Amino acid sequence: MGILERMRLDGKTTFITGGARGIGLAIATAIAEAGSNVAIVDVDIEEAKKAAAELEAATGVGTLAIKADVTSQEDVDRMIEAIMDKFGRIDAAFCNAGICMNIPAEEMTLDQFRKVIDINLTGVFLTSQAAAKVMLKQGRGSIINTASMSAHIVNVPQPQCSYNASKAGVIQLTKSMAIEFAKRGVRVNSISPGYIGTELTLNSPTLQPLIEQWNAMAPLGRMGTPEELQAIAVYLAGDSSDFTTGSDFVIDGAFTCF
Ligand code: NAD
Repeated sequence: MGILERMRLDGKTTFITGGARGIGLAIATAIAEAGSNVAIVDVDIEEAKKAAAELEAATGVGTLAIKADVTSQEDVDRMIEAIMDKFGRIDAAFCNAGICMNIPAEEMTLDQFRKVIDINLTGVFLTSQAAAKVMLKQGRGSIINTASMSAHIVNVPQPQCSYNASKAGVIQLTKSMAIEFAKRGVRVNSISPGYIGTELTLNSPTLQPLIEQWNAMAPLGRMGTPEELQAIAVYLAGDSSDFTTGSDFVIDGAFTCF
């Protein structure tokens, strides 16, 4: 079988948190195009339902839209139950939901700091743990967590201490789980995007004014698009990446190279 055939995901089931828009939606689209059933998990259930219906119509795979807050154990348990009821297995899980707050460290309140850590790090822990419990029973599965180039560098000029700390945590969480599950068929990797044009960047009142400055700093002279993360997502979800675990994939147009 050729590599493109081996990269197909027919018959598999994948969930994507934060899948209603942006990077999560681009990943969900690619995963469905590759043949996997898709569960779109988001706090924004209306957008999730719309995305699921569109993907099902366009690709013919089975879809599910689930309202869940990744910081809630109860919601995450309900999410797993709904996916198992409809599809009976989970082959790949993208723990992608995240937020960003751009507040100077000396002004950030404890509640603000905790909110970012809760969604970006604890949420990734809860959803990847829940996926792993199913996958360990199956003896097979692939978990992909969304980190960021902000796990590797401190982006300037925006102040993002909580975001940077949360994303660095995602990488170590990923590597720790990869080691724990390595001999039991469950792989865990992370993707660290650079600046990508989504709501989080293009429509943020604090980040949007910085885009020209970022583009001037960027070796490629521009931000990336969510679609430019699709190929790595399909690769990591499927069996052709069987030797790949505990890795972080920096997709940043060389932004972190200097
Ligand atoms: P986005 O704001 O466009 O989309 C995030 C999605 O997550 C939204 O649909 C939102 O409703 C959902 N969400 C937020 N909180 C949630 C929660 N508690 N539970 C469930 N769903 C929740 O953002 P994006 O740019 O697509 O970012 C996706 C991921 O990529 C995030 O983890 C982000 O930190 C990371 N990232 C983004 C960039 C970038 O430049 N856009 C760069 C590096 C990493």
